[in-house]
Amino acid sequence: MSALFDSDDSNADSQGIAILGSTGSVGQSTLDVVRRHPDKFHVKGLSANSRVDTLFEQCKEFLPSRVVLNNPDSAQILHEKLRLDGVATEVLCGESALCAMVEAQDTQTVMAAIVGAAGLLPTLAAAKKGKKVLLANKESLVMSGALLMDAVRANSAQLLPIDSEHNAIFQCLPQHESGTSLNGVKNLLLTASGGPFREFTLEQLKSVTPQQACAHPIWSMGRKISVDSATLMNKGLELIEACWLFAIDLECIDVVLHPQSIVHSMVTYADGSVLAQMGNPDMRTPIAHALGWPQRIESGAEPLDFFSLSKLTFARPDTKKFPCLELARDAMRIGGTAPSALNAANEIAVQAFLDRKLAFTEIPNVIETTMGKVVHYQDVTLELILSVDREAREMADSLINTQTPVRVPHA
Ligand code: NAD
Ligand code: MG
Repeated sequence: MSALFDSDDSNADSQGIAILGSTGSVGQSTLDVVRRHPDKFHVKGLSANSRVDTLFEQCKEFLPSRVVLNNPDSAQILHEKLRLDGVATEVLCGESALCAMVEAQDTQTVMAAIVGAAGLLPTLAAAKKGKKVLLANKESLVMSGALLMDAVRANSAQLLPIDSEHNAIFQCLPQHESGTSLNGVKNLLLTASGGPFREFTLEQLKSVTPQQACAHPIWSMGRKISVDSATLMNKGLELIEACWLFAIDLECIDVVLHPQSIVHSMVTYADGSVLAQMGNPDMRTPIAHALGWPQRIESGAEPLDFFSLSKLTFARPDTKKFPCLELARDAMRIGGTAPSALNAANEIAVQAFLDRKLAFTEIPNVIETTMGKVVHYQDVTLELILSVDREAREMADSLINTQTPVRVPHA
């Protein structure tokens, strides 16, 4: 199949880009930045799970050579719609087509913005082909940090963080030609908004609804990461992500609550200096930073107006109310396949909460029990990671299905 994609890139100064998860929140923000720079980027591939209408509009506007859908019925519908509209984009389906799409010779840059473990294989495939990989899909690094970082090094790929905190740290670390260094760095301060339930009591947390959890006070994001943000598992996954991205020990990273989300993260140096990256909370800033890197390009984000800012506050997170942060730290301390099990159990528990089958406060319990039951292996291979992922999903699923049913309010 990849032979289909081996056409030469005629526009040498412009980067050919493939966007995994183009219909999602990060995917759409990426297209918004790309739209502002027709001279710098041309879209070669788009992909989504099943949202045909959004993908159809994206195909008409950006005329990619190919799109890949996960759902075969959706692929068929999109194929018909594009054909009727005279758009020549090729429509493909499934995981191997997704990997072939990021491997294509005409594609230099890959935005990895699929949500969850489904992003792992195409992200790995892009790294193995030595592409410039813009990483939003933190779950792939949590699941397979060692393998992904090895693939990046072995194939001279570039891995640029899109997560706003990691992108901020990347900007604050010393830069060398071969990447960032930890020269003189004492620790990293990962900021967290605290999510919509920061001020809730434990009692109030028991009855929160998916709708409340997905209404993040600052960021507008996909449903899964919104729930992760509300449980603080998002920050837990980000701790693990930072360890791998910057080759830094877990104990050298602190989490700081910063509800205004203006300081996106900080680096403390041995001499007492603290470097922070600031900006309005708008994902187009880290996306434009990574797309343009090492140049700076316009993102469309509003500049920060210091004269109208409310006060900036900082606090310690409450790990009793939000145990997921410590569960993630524990998984990273165990190492090997443990973060993969953590991620899988979390994905199942979050989906069950969104489906109103599990109370919000039960999410950490499902993850902790799963982590206690699955076997953790230290030597990681892709096969082992995928098998632990499957086992943890089954375990979490059966825990949820055998529990006394909880009533999650509908309001
Ligand atoms: P989203 O739910 O809005 O979008 C997810 C995208 O993935 C969609 O295009 C969907 O079609 C696609 N997708 C889902 N399942 C798929 C599958 N099985 N196969 C192929 N495609 C599939 O999510 P999002 O908020 O854009 O987040 C995407 C990733 O970026 C996540 O890993 C998230 O943690 C990370 N991230 C998001 C933000 C943010 O502001 N939204 C910030 C930092 C990091
Ligand atoms: Mg983040």
